Amino acid sequence: MGTAGARFMVAKQIAASGGLFIEEGNTRISLDPGPGAIVAYAARKVDLTTLDAIVLSHRHLDHSSDVNVMIEAMTDGGFSHRGVLLCPSDALDDDPVVLKYVRRFPREIIRLAATTSYTVNDVAFTTSGRHVHQHETYGFRFGEKLGWITDSGYYDGIADEHKADVMVIHTVLEHCRPELPHLCIADAERIVREAKPRLAILTHYGMAVWRANPTEIAADLTQRIGTDVQAARDGMSIEL
Ligand SMILES: [Zn+2]
Repeated sequence: MGTAGARFMVAKQIAASGGLFIEEGNTRISLDPGPGAIVAYAARKVDLTTLDAIVLSHRHLDHSSDVNVMIEAMTDGGFSHRGVLLCPSDALDDDPVVLKYVRRFPREIIRLAATTSYTVNDVAFTTSGRHVHQHETYGFRFGEKLGWITDSGYYDGIADEHKADVMVIHTVLEHCRPELPHLCIADAERIVREAKPRLAILTHYGMAVWRANPTEIAADLTQRIGTDVQAARDGMSIEL
């Protein structure tokens, strides 16, 4: 539903910023519904009254801004008591991004914890350890199929904690900047070399990555590592 990451890409909507959408059998999960997610879902004709869960990796705006309207949509305007919200505690407590009046709409609100397993219908997933980031942030591993490395600075074990057949990696930075808790292209390379997925997908681009052309960056990584690395595009869909 979108590939933009961080403030400038999102503010200018150079790419969309609606996060990821997972469908498995009859289960549908919205991951990180950032600015414009509701518009992206409508444009792709996803019936949000059939959504089963909304997952926030963390409270930053580019991951969470549409969570309230998505909860309303999932619960048919609050009239249908259904669906689950899973998010870190700090999305709910101090300066919450989930409004209090919508919290009675979903069937359940689950506070995510590190290295814990959850299920939504038939879809099981596990959180990573807490990411190196400004707020409480987790990455996710959907069994052997999908690893989703959300915002984080690089840390030892990040590759292993998200290791899967297909790995989606948030690469906000082109060049590494130790003072910023985000992955750069060299970090992504290190992760891919270590975890050896069948396919790695770069997404959540910051402005410098965008200007450097994600498709060319991915092609270069593919050639050098020997693992298929692709650059996500808005609306991209893959079979797992
Ligand atoms: Zn963030």
